[in-house]
Amino acid sequence: MTQRVMIAGGGIGGLVTALTLHQIGVDCVVFESVRSLKPLGVGINLQPNAVRELGDLGLGTEVLDTVGVPAREWALVGLNGNDIYAETRGLEAGYNWPQYAVHRGQFHMLLYRTVLERLGPQAVQLGARVTGYRQGPEGVTALIEGGREETGALLIGADGIHSAVRAQMHPDQPPIHWGGAVMWRGVTRAAPIRTGSSFVGLGTHRHRMVVYPISHPDAEGKALINWIAEVTYDDPAARESTGWFREVAIADFAHHFDGWTWDWLDVPALIHGSDGAYENPMIDRDPVGTWQDGAVVLIGDAAHAMYPTGSNGASQAIIDARVLGAAMIEHGAGVQALAAFDAQLCGPVSALILRNRGAGPFGLLNLVDDRCGGQFDNIDDVIPPAERADFMAGYKSAAGFAIEKLNAAAPTIAPGARVR
Ligand SMILES: Cc1cc2nc3c(=O)[nH]c(=O)nc-3n(C[C@H](O)[C@H](O)[C@H](O)COP(=O)(O)OP(=O)(O)OC[C@H]3O[C@@H](n4cnc5c(N)ncnc54)[C@H](O)[C@@H]3O)c2cc1C
Repeated sequence: MTQRVMIAGGGIGGLVTALTLHQIGVDCVVFESVRSLKPLGVGINLQPNAVRELGDLGLGTEVLDTVGVPAREWALVGLNGNDIYAETRGLEAGYNWPQYAVHRGQFHMLLYRTVLERLGPQAVQLGARVTGYRQGPEGVTALIEGGREETGALLIGADGIHSAVRAQMHPDQPPIHWGGAVMWRGVTRAAPIRTGSSFVGLGTHRHRMVVYPISHPDAEGKALINWIAEVTYDDPAARESTGWFREVAIADFAHHFDGWTWDWLDVPALIHGSDGAYENPMIDRDPVGTWQDGAVVLIGDAAHAMYPTGSNGASQAIIDARVLGAAMIEHGAGVQALAAFDAQLCGPVSALILRNRGAGPFGLLNLVDDRCGGQFDNIDDVIPPAERADFMAGYKSAAGFAIEKLNAAAPTIAPGARVR
């Protein structure tokens, strides 16, 4: 039996898995459906736990600074312009590693270049869509569109929210779940607000903007500002008209934010300053009981597509890759490692999917709405500071980025560790 590990999907999860397997001495190949990888997407956050893992892969802050910027603050602001909650992030919050806000496409291309440099050009096969798998004494066979078959020791399904590997593993899974919110995303060159690198959620839980920079400022003090405009519809039929990262005209949605102007932020100008916008329904998938089927395992969005409210989809995909690598070091690159990975992560991350569905850290906005309809002068009269702090601490602990725990934890993969 060949020892080669096959990875379906060359997104963030698949490529970090390839780099991790290379680091620990496991031969692997990535099958990616698109014919050419392009720098697609806008902003994503890399939480300190994921930044730590990237550093352990030799992708430290000097590299991440080329595709993003360290985040310094996370804040929720009401429609009256008053703060609901604000906290420092990354190094300033006491983590040993920064949090990064990055351009998803540029970060993805950085991973792709690194895989090609370290593993060689044959490691990523483009135009190779995995349609399913077959298991037998020879190992696992990946079925690739066009009639091709490839056999290896393991198959890792890192093929995203519409995963074909998951569809075969869980044929009875319900369709994608949509809660009624639609997001429009774009990037505009503008002056950063507040700390210069603040993530700001502004508005109510059914009607809000998220704004944060994803580059260092240029000579004029302007940075790439990622924005997400979000509206929740009561009418499920609205779903029919939404697409997954579909390009849309700004005029289609900008009117929802008319008048959203304060002396520190002009939302209409920000939206209209973008070259284009992408439309996304806020979707996820119901958790499943296991991510493993014999020699096949799911990671990243294929395992646990979740609402982006916690800003941890990409981070969790990176953590998955590293925990899987650690399990291989302990148990060998075989089925036992997949079982150990599944036992460690499937339960807690599935709980996180449901927590994010309940608005994740944005849940504070629901509380403000419930208690005062979004109208307040002093937030302390609506939600006392201790209650706000407890709410956020609970989320961070569930998402695996509690400060003390992360700082005290040994590296997921010890330097120099290899699969026996
Ligand atoms: C084009 C694109 C743009 C995105 N933009 C943003 C963004 O702006 N902000 C944000 O928060 N999140 C964005 N995301 C989602 C985010 O990247 C993921 O939530 C997160 O990084 C987890 O990554 P993943 O590798 O598990 O999944 P993904 O990033 O979705 O990667 C999955 C990969 O698998 C490939 N693939 C799919 N099906 C198959 C198949 N059957 N066989 C082989 N390959 C397959 C896809 O082409 C893709 O490259 C985007 C995803 C994509 C694909």
